[in-house]
Amino acid sequence: TDLDSVPDEYYMPVETTPPDTLLSRRANATLLMLARNSDVNDAVKSVRRLEDRFNRKFGYPWLFLNEEPFSDEFKTRIRNVIHGEVTFAEIPHDHWYQPDWIDEDRARAGREKMVADNIIYGGSVSYRNMCRFNSGFFFRHPLLQNYKWYWRVEPDVHFHCDISFDPFLYMEDHNKTYAFTITMYEFGATIPTLWDATKEFVDAHPQYVARDNAMGYMSDDGGNSYNNCHFWSNFEIASMDFWRSEAYTKYFEHLDAKGGFYYERWGDAPVHSIAVALFQDKSQIQFFDEIGYEHNPYTHCPRNPDAWARGKCDCEPKRSFDYDGYSCMRQWDRIWQ
Ligand code: GDP
Ligand code: MN
Repeated sequence: TDLDSVPDEYYMPVETTPPDTLLSRRANATLLMLARNSDVNDAVKSVRRLEDRFNRKFGYPWLFLNEEPFSDEFKTRIRNVIHGEVTFAEIPHDHWYQPDWIDEDRARAGREKMVADNIIYGGSVSYRNMCRFNSGFFFRHPLLQNYKWYWRVEPDVHFHCDISFDPFLYMEDHNKTYAFTITMYEFGATIPTLWDATKEFVDAHPQYVARDNAMGYMSDDGGNSYNNCHFWSNFEIASMDFWRSEAYTKYFEHLDAKGGFYYERWGDAPVHSIAVALFQDKSQIQFFDEIGYEHNPYTHCPRNPDAWARGKCDCEPKRSFDYDGYSCMRQWDRIWQ
């Protein structure tokens, strides 16, 4: 009948392990996704795309985090598109929810004002929980303690090129801390007092500021004001050693105590970006031109034609977000001149 299945002898052998040359050196790294059960369809898409373009060859483990237990459907659907190891875990309650010491009346007033001003996610408490978790807590999760490196992946992102090199090993070998593919302006209305809080911290702890920092990327006036440039953190490859360092721990505690994650809507992207740009040498920040990446509505497509060809990229280089008026690639480029 039409329902007869194709006999085994027609199948190619499925390669499940990478060749020895690629297994001989590995980074202490995991692929990491924060997601809700309702994100399952988009989560599957991202995982499938990264497995196809990268991880099928490299076999790094995946870790999924959620403040609620993952559903059986989520776990089954995800496992079905992953070749290697995968773990599903819950976030400790205190790492996620709004702390009791936050003045809820003040927080609510802040949310209502942002809703009136039409600011994206302005009225959302869960979005604020997520931003605070990504700023100060994910790297404290028990299951991340054994890892140094992570690659942050979000639901429904695209990888437009073959990634046939190991970005973790490249970063390890070149003393890199943090890698990005897209940089842009943050909405100033979500972080009205973040820069003042940062300057206060730096004044109190000048020893944490790196000598050859990237201030010139973030400020057009020598540090007096913030130009809102940040690395788009839905893509991150980074070392958790930095988030666990004394400088970042103290910086996060200082920011958290201000309550700005709830009274305003501080994002993990500007918080991570400002910290890396100030407390690390600029040479420790890596722009991965080679990694074609899309998170709605923006795409980074390699500008180097050799990288684009070698990666068999399916994106259109001249429409890369790098050249958009809203991109901060100009500010990034200028610190290297
Ligand atoms: P956007 O990219 O800023 O529009 O925000 P997203 O909706 O993509 O959220 C950023 C990341 O946090 C994604 O990985 C989401 O799956 C995740 N996320 C957002 N809100 C929640 C939440 O309430 N619970 C969980 N578990 N994950 C969330
Ligand atoms: Mn997203």
